[in-house]
Amino acid sequence: MHDTSFEFLKNLVTAPSPSGYEQPAQRVFREYVGQFADIVTDVLGNVISFIPGTGEDRLKVMLVGHCDEIGFQVKYIDDNGFIWFGAVGGVDPHITIGQRVTIHAVGGPVTGVIGRKPIHLLEAKDRDSLIKLDNQYIDIGVSNRKEAEELVRMGDPITFAGELERLQGDRVTSRGFDDKAGCFVVAEVMRLIAEADPKPPVDLFGVSSVQEEVGLRGGKTSSYSVDPDVGFCVEVFFSSDQPDVDKKLNGEISLGKGPVIPRGLNINPFLFDLLTATAGKESIPVQLIGLPRASGTDANVMQVSRSGVATALINLPLRYMHSPVEVLALSDLEQAARLIAAALYGLTDREALIPR
Ligand SMILES: [Zn+2]
Repeated sequence: MHDTSFEFLKNLVTAPSPSGYEQPAQRVFREYVGQFADIVTDVLGNVISFIPGTGEDRLKVMLVGHCDEIGFQVKYIDDNGFIWFGAVGGVDPHITIGQRVTIHAVGGPVTGVIGRKPIHLLEAKDRDSLIKLDNQYIDIGVSNRKEAEELVRMGDPITFAGELERLQGDRVTSRGFDDKAGCFVVAEVMRLIAEADPKPPVDLFGVSSVQEEVGLRGGKTSSYSVDPDVGFCVEVFFSSDQPDVDKKLNGEISLGKGPVIPRGLNINPFLFDLLTATAGKESIPVQLIGLPRASGTDANVMQVSRSGVATALINLPLRYMHSPVEVLALSDLEQAARLIAAALYGLTDREALIPR
């Protein structure tokens, strides 16, 4: 991966973006993609970038990856200055205890920790039981409510602390790869197409959407405003090459073996064929899965926007989704961007999108 692309990915995942508070990450997206595409930001905070194509009767193609991440929000500060919080999106209460967090306050980031009674003081039955998020609290190191209120305000967004770090080979770990990895791929496709000559025969919209984790909300409004003929959603998907994910339920997915292309009711058959044929032609490895339901992604709302959109999903294998230590392989992101960019050249026939 180019240094500039890697730097962009790092900045994108580091910038806080719990649903509803995405603009720090969106500023990173705008600055990068704004170098080679036209950009608008809508009233929800979706960033929509645009590169026109060549030729007559061009299809409108929308790429979408959501930039919001799961997180927390300040709900209450008690007399001793402990901060009680609510979850933004699907947070697993098993993994929050013992974590460092960052409260993104007006005056700047405030570091805190989610504490717990020491194991010595736990009764035997409590060692095996789950502590609900409602009963967890953040310690920022103050002595009372007044001191806390000088730093933190009701509603301040919170994320897990920590930045992107390299593991072995091309594997990296960070919070927020769901789905800033997808948002990154959208940006990289825009870069590849901006550099391409000739341009593909489509008008290309690259969207960094908001509020996906709380109900596909930005994907819904941006699909309406872009009004595309074809939509590609780039989302993370559960890798099953970790010990505790069942391949029979999830499918057989590994990090580093290329993007995942699902088949199913959310996927237009022509687009599935186009993606797999393009992968063959370009020698890009892909992994296939069956998806026998509407996906829980922006592809879902995009497909049923207005009178319907031909949609496909390009999934990026990810371990430990919704944790502060999500792990992926950088090559999967690069292959996904190459695959989508190449597939755009096969979108010449509006009629082919109609299943017959
Ligand atoms: Zn996601």
